[in-house]
Amino acid sequence: MKTSRSTKLFTEAQQLIPGGVNSPVRAFRSVGGQPRFIARAKGSRLYDVDRNVYIDYVLSWGPMILGHAHSAVIESIKKAAGRGTSYGAPTESEVSLAREIRSAFPSMEKIRLVSSGTEAVMSAIRVARGFTKRTKVMKFEGCYHGHGDYLLAKAGSGLATLGIPDSPGVPDDFAKHTLTAPYNDIRTVQQLITANRDQLACIIVEPIAGNMGVVPPAPDFVSALRQLTAEHNILLIFDEVISGFRVSYGGAQALYGIKPDLTVLGKIIGGGLPVGAYGGRREIMDLIAPVGPVYQAGTLSGNPLAVSAGLATLKQLRAKGVYKQLEERSAALAKGIGEAAKKAGIPVTQTRIGSMLTTFFTPGPVVDWNTAKQSDTKRYGQFFHHMLEQGVYLAPSQFEAAFLSTAHSTQDIEKTLRAAHTAFKKL
Ligand SMILES: *Cc1c(COP(=O)(O)O)cnc(C)c1O
Repeated sequence: MKTSRSTKLFTEAQQLIPGGVNSPVRAFRSVGGQPRFIARAKGSRLYDVDRNVYIDYVLSWGPMILGHAHSAVIESIKKAAGRGTSYGAPTESEVSLAREIRSAFPSMEKIRLVSSGTEAVMSAIRVARGFTKRTKVMKFEGCYHGHGDYLLAKAGSGLATLGIPDSPGVPDDFAKHTLTAPYNDIRTVQQLITANRDQLACIIVEPIAGNMGVVPPAPDFVSALRQLTAEHNILLIFDEVISGFRVSYGGAQALYGIKPDLTVLGKIIGGGLPVGAYGGRREIMDLIAPVGPVYQAGTLSGNPLAVSAGLATLKQLRAKGVYKQLEERSAALAKGIGEAAKKAGIPVTQTRIGSMLTTFFTPGPVVDWNTAKQSDTKRYGQFFHHMLEQGVYLAPSQFEAAFLSTAHSTQDIEKTLRAAHTAFKKL
């Protein structure tokens, strides 16, 4: 596979941009080699600057659930662009997106749009603290909630991939307000609540963990969190930036029938443009300016192009059979990869909820960060490159989800499985 143009661009990029990338997970550090520079994308395919073609299972790290450059989404963005790209004044489409989000996520009685998942999480934590008048925050090891100062402790893939346990630049004074517990470990949660009585503002969790590879919640883990937080007047925040509109139209909370106090969304709701959202109970959200004193603002918040891309995406997702098809194709992919690994005698553990899945290179089981990191990351790196060489673009890190889109055909799955057979055999 020819990669000379990517190599040349990467050399120059490294002179201009730290590590040559604008987000560290793109840099291929944990799998070795150099990133491919992408020229364009359509449907399930990525095309790089050397004219290589890949079946894409990264999908911009989650947002592109309809595949790339979906005609309805592009049309909608073009129309919006023709009407102007930003006004700094309210628009009808923001109301439509908020209405659509609330109908899918009834727990989000009021919603504020922002420009990224990180921003949404930071804002949700601020309002949780304002509402409870408490300072401490609990999160889970291996869960990622964006790069806000308070939440970088034990934050999963991006940092784990680079071997950064916790980021320098975050004052101890900030980090000390963050407590961490192992995922799926409700006893530790109980102990931390007892030890920090009346100090915990909120517990934030990915109800389906996607940032240490996919780690599903144990039965009752999420409902136990709901019960414990309610008992102690702690707000429960679901970070559904990945799972929202992905595992079902109403996210993990619809799947499990649990109502958090606050929810954070991102990725899919922007249809490939920058959007985040946070929302929840009315009395909490009404603390936000201009109604209340908790300040949060944004020049480009609710940007008309991004909102139009989000609305167009959600409309496609409401079509009949979308999630059923995603489920069936994802199940076929997971099953096939498992069979290929078994045939080659490579021990793997596969996790999957709907169209998000991970193949961990460990016999498992994988239930939290400690068990996830038992994976043989060197072997994953080799597998990744064998797949890439055959035109299958997986995440350049063991600790990530693979995503499917509605554009992934059964032929794409078959081609991927043929590549996987070859790749496993070469390990
Ligand atoms: C991607 C992600 C974020 C951060 O969103 P950005 O738009 O990258 O800032 C937050 N939480 C989870 C669960 C994510 O996967």
